[in-house]
Amino acid sequence: MKDLDLHRGGCWCGQVRYESYGPPTYAGICHCRYCQLRTGSAFGVSIYFPDELIKILKGEQCLKSYKMKNNSGRDFEIRFCTNCGTSLFWKVGSREGMTSIAGGTFDPPTFWYKPKNEVFCRSKCDFVVTDVPNKFDTSPMYSPVNTGEERLGS
Ligand SMILES: [Zn+2]
Ligand SMILES: [Zn+2]
Repeated sequence: MKDLDLHRGGCWCGQVRYESYGPPTYAGICHCRYCQLRTGSAFGVSIYFPDELIKILKGEQCLKSYKMKNNSGRDFEIRFCTNCGTSLFWKVGSREGMTSIAGGTFDPPTFWYKPKNEVFCRSKCDFVVTDVPNKFDTSPMYSPVNTGEERLGS
């Protein structure tokens, strides 16, 4: 693996550290309600890699997982640092064998990737304006089976 392809990052308190190898398979931003709640902010930045191209260097024991079914009926698992609360990784049933890294957790230069897709624009915050080229009202993989709570409607 060339050094160029290596990116490190971690949580706020520094107990959890990881590295990723190569370019992401998918880089996008997401305005769904899950990402808004997961981050406590306006949108999520999803940087997906094949599972084997992410290595947790330390702090695995500090990670806690929260699992739920999203409203497409797929498993959604988020892992966050129990010490500082940073949301770091997630897996979703529509992307088998892949893990997403939370885009804001890479070490500087943090935003080294280029998001191509912007999904769930239907719940986008009005003051967020981007130059991401492909915009979707939901997601190409969205197939709702459970409308769930309004609060979580994504
Ligand atoms: Zn932490
Ligand atoms: Zn989302």
